[in-house]
Amino acid sequence: MKIHNFSAGPSILPQEVIEKAAEAVKDLGKGLSLIEISHRSKEFVDIMENARALALELLGLEGKGYKALFLQGGASTQFMMVALNLLEKRAGYLNTGTWSEKAIKEAKIYDDIYEVASSKSANFNYIPKGYSIPEDYDYFHCTSNNTIFGTQIKEFPDSPVPVVCDMSSDIFSRQLDFTKFDLIYAGAQKNMGPAGVTLVVVREDILGKVSRKIPAIMDYKQHIDKSSMYNTPPVFAVYTSMLTMEWLKNMGGIPAIEEINQKKAQLIYSELDINPLFKGFAVKEDRSMMNATFTLSNEILKETFDSMWKEAGISGLNGHRSVGGYRASMYNALPLDSVKVLVEVMSELERKA
Ligand SMILES: *Cc1c(COP(=O)(O)O)cnc(C)c1O
Repeated sequence: MKIHNFSAGPSILPQEVIEKAAEAVKDLGKGLSLIEISHRSKEFVDIMENARALALELLGLEGKGYKALFLQGGASTQFMMVALNLLEKRAGYLNTGTWSEKAIKEAKIYDDIYEVASSKSANFNYIPKGYSIPEDYDYFHCTSNNTIFGTQIKEFPDSPVPVVCDMSSDIFSRQLDFTKFDLIYAGAQKNMGPAGVTLVVVREDILGKVSRKIPAIMDYKQHIDKSSMYNTPPVFAVYTSMLTMEWLKNMGGIPAIEEINQKKAQLIYSELDINPLFKGFAVKEDRSMMNATFTLSNEILKETFDSMWKEAGISGLNGHRSVGGYRASMYNALPLDSVKVLVEVMSELERKA
């Protein structure tokens, strides 16, 4: 049976990417596996350089003073690394959920952190708007897509200070003016590749302005100077991320995938709006195109619904414990057909109930 993988992360990758990655683990082309060659070999250096170039190309940031890095430690390490590299006195954070809160907590270890706005009192079911960002902040940090709560920033604020954005769960999913951002980071395992690598795209001229000493492995400048090879990179995760970026480029890049992502989101949200058995969690205007969160209006139907979607081959639909209910994660590699199957099950439940 075909499995429809709605997992929130690690999550679905294009089938052709998985096949090519599996092939490279067996033999990269000269009788050696991807995971047994030197990262300093020409083969791997080319892979790293291709991956770095593709990231900038897809985001439309080539030749604009940005550098792409593939680092380890997950997006969670970036919570600390951003502060170490950019925080001199104070910074402003937009608090839109669990991941923002973690970023705030880590940065607070180093200096003053202010929440410019927060939707915590509404259990993060919306994106705050209309706040202002003071000019004396070192930077402003936001989370573009709130994976757990299913909200997404549609309009980014005009900021007088550098903008840092955690795009872990919607990188490469929609068109934005990426030059509005000075530092973007994203753990690969939601929308780009396997777990184990984090993409960082940084405008070089925002670096080197803090007075603290930064350990080399935490220093973006060191990673830039060493072409993202300061130490041994996670070769498999970098290679597979490169394959996903190639897949995306070949299908027409971000504009092409955004069109499909919009169709998927439209399909599920219109079902949530017409089907009285379900309730969407996020307020309409802030709904995420990547993670749709919803609950049953009557918990009595849980057992029936759960067995129906499992029978239909759907996997990974359970919501995060802080929201409950369900979460349909519809990352780039999830086909429109999978969403059709889910929506069919939802309307079938309505007919049955
Ligand atoms: C998953 C996620 C993270 C955490 O990523 P790790 O790579 O596990 O550290 C951070 N931010 C967002 C928005 C996420 O979705």
